Amino acid sequence: MLLDVPRPALRLGFDPDALRANWQALDRLSGDARAGAAVKADGYGLGARQVVPVLHAAGCHDFFVAHWSEADALLDIAAPGSISVLHGPLTDADVAFALASGATPVINSLEQARRWLAAGGGRCHLMVDTGMNRLGLPMADLGDESVAALDVDVLLSHLVSAEEETPFNAVQRDRWEEARRAVLHQRASLANSAGIALGSGYHGDLTRPGIALYGGVPRAEMAGDLRQVVRPQVAILQVRNVAAGETVGYNATFTAKTAMRTGTIALGYADGYLRCWSGKGRFLAGGQVLPVLGRVSMDMTVIDLSSAPGLREGDWVTADYALPEASAATGLTQYELLTVLGQRFAR
Ligand SMILES: *Cc1c(COP(=O)(O)O)cnc(C)c1O
Repeated sequence: MLLDVPRPALRLGFDPDALRANWQALDRLSGDARAGAAVKADGYGLGARQVVPVLHAAGCHDFFVAHWSEADALLDIAAPGSISVLHGPLTDADVAFALASGATPVINSLEQARRWLAAGGGRCHLMVDTGMNRLGLPMADLGDESVAALDVDVLLSHLVSAEEETPFNAVQRDRWEEARRAVLHQRASLANSAGIALGSGYHGDLTRPGIALYGGVPRAEMAGDLRQVVRPQVAILQVRNVAAGETVGYNATFTAKTAMRTGTIALGYADGYLRCWSGKGRFLAGGQVLPVLGRVSMDMTVIDLSSAPGLREGDWVTADYALPEASAATGLTQYELLTVLGQRFAR
């Protein structure tokens, strides 16, 4: 039987105009380079399938995902050659998928280079590790004959601390320049979101912003250029009157000083609204601020409706989720704040 499943009582408010404006700002800040987009982890939790068409319409033609399965999810909405897979071809099945789909592998090691070449290879990208010591070809392997045999479109590297002022940024830039001299390639790419603000020496031909597209502010000087893109929105399941002296939620961590009106909303830590928001999160409705009372639980959170007496069961409220402030309040990174948002949100 095909049931008409009701819409969930929580949704991710998504502002495509803000996303478009953020990409355009980052493309402009990238100077002579073009801006691509990191859309891994389901577009940082926003939903890659709703993010990619907006970015494409804005003029973005280079999309980076981590896993092959993430490329597969985009093949019907993006040109396969515009999708690059950062983890690269780890298995023969990955190579077969790359060849069949047309998605572009990022080669990260001599093993991956040889696996790609043995299968016939073709156009690929090459990630060089200039100091992260995480994933990428060691500088010492740049002269290997299998590297010389690759047909490299983008030669890329990734910055360790682009959001900080550290001499290591220039060290990595210089190593990336050295790699550019050592390996034939079409385009070069170094900067993530924060790296774009480091200036033209870090831009090459292509930048790879992620977090800043989605409203994260990795460096304070970028704040004026970036807009909030995503706002968690949630319905009120129940309105209650709590008497003075009563407590709210698990472990009774909040006690009402006076009689108050509360709302129970359909959002909890299972949705990525983690327990660190307990007693400090805030929701917004009609310009009023509605603080979180007591503990966040798995599927529900209780908020103070005192300032918004008109709110009823079924009405919607919006989480105060501006990323820099939310990060300062919780200690979660702006990246975590987006990527924890769970599957129960309608996107
Ligand atoms: C995630 C990622 C990016 C984007 O980084 P942001 O800090 O989100 O801008 C760029 N390049 C690589 C290789 C990445 O893994």
